[in-house]
Amino acid sequence: MNKINRREFIKTTALTGAAAVTSSIICTGGASVFGRNLPSLAAQKQAAVGKPIAISSGNGTKALEKAMEIINQGSDALDGVVAGVNIVEDDPNDMSVGYGGLPNEEGIVELDAAVMHGPSYRAGSVAALRNVKNPSKVARLVMERTDHVLLVGEGALKFAKAHGFKEEDLLTERAREAWLKCKENLNKEDDWLPPHSIEDTDIGEIYEKYLRHYGTIHISALDTYGNLSCVTTTSGLAFKIPGRVGDSPIIGAGLYCDNEVGSAGSTGRGEANLLNLSSAMIVEWMRQGKSPEEACLLACKRVNERCREKRLQDDQGRFKHGVTFYAINKRGEYGGASIWKGDTYLIHDGIEVKRKECAYLFKK
Ligand code: ASP
Repeated sequence: MNKINRREFIKTTALTGAAAVTSSIICTGGASVFGRNLPSLAAQKQAAVGKPIAISSGNGTKALEKAMEIINQGSDALDGVVAGVNIVEDDPNDMSVGYGGLPNEEGIVELDAAVMHGPSYRAGSVAALRNVKNPSKVARLVMERTDHVLLVGEGALKFAKAHGFKEEDLLTERAREAWLKCKENLNKEDDWLPPHSIEDTDIGEIYEKYLRHYGTIHISALDTYGNLSCVTTTSGLAFKIPGRVGDSPIIGAGLYCDNEVGSAGSTGRGEANLLNLSSAMIVEWMRQGKSPEEACLLACKRVNERCREKRLQDDQGRFKHGVTFYAINKRGEYGGASIWKGDTYLIHDGIEVKRKECAYLFKK
């Protein structure tokens, strides 16, 4: 691609319109399996009107309904998926995403999110963002209003505030109580004591329920123009070390989308996924002809087979944590898979939301 300087680009954009310039930048070079001869954004929008579809993690019923309502009105898939997850980010009762998400070990909520837009082949993300409940909106602004892909921590917060986001305390009473319970039960020798009586000699219990609590929402969607986009947003691992970033905001790990092929995302143990870049792998396996479900299962297999750390395996050498993948392809086929039996995903076929069993590697 020829390099054009920024001033030249802005001048040209003003003269000819952003869509035309974008298409001239995208449509360079010769034919390639990676789609360098993509049609312009405008042409992609005029392309055949097809059946939309959207997939999400199991906590996304309302989010999928919202996403599809917007997509069915003729909007871009990205508008739909972001509006969809905003519902979950705003919901104090979902303790794995946005407002009400479980905090880090210091009791502060830190959020990760990313978006990827198929037709323009762009992405944006934020990590360890505090005090802003809709990180997916900020991630979209990183994509649209910066020359970057990922902003973290304080810089992400300053950027959000520059765009008018208000800071607010994201810790709900319920999440604070869960955090305190964990803290008071984590170590029987430290100075934090759970409620007890003066008769008790052995104070505290390991508070298993929240110790390794994961949770996230991912949505991938195909809109009526046949374009793909996706989003993943989360409060990440409960009671994490401050600054810990999971897979969700990492393009290729927590989500990936190629407008010529398909879109994929993940929930579950982010560290395993960061080491395997599973979402990008799933899209590449779909490019090679695998169905979405086969590709998701291959990702599970890869996570399991590549793990060398005994502490992460059960007594049969199987990866003992949960990781789940979701994928759709350009033809509107879909599938999901998890390492362990029992997980589900949701699919919206343009008419209604249906819950499906994930394919799986192992049964408990
Ligand atoms: N994958 C997320 C993370 O590791 C958490 C989750 O999906 O449960 O931050």
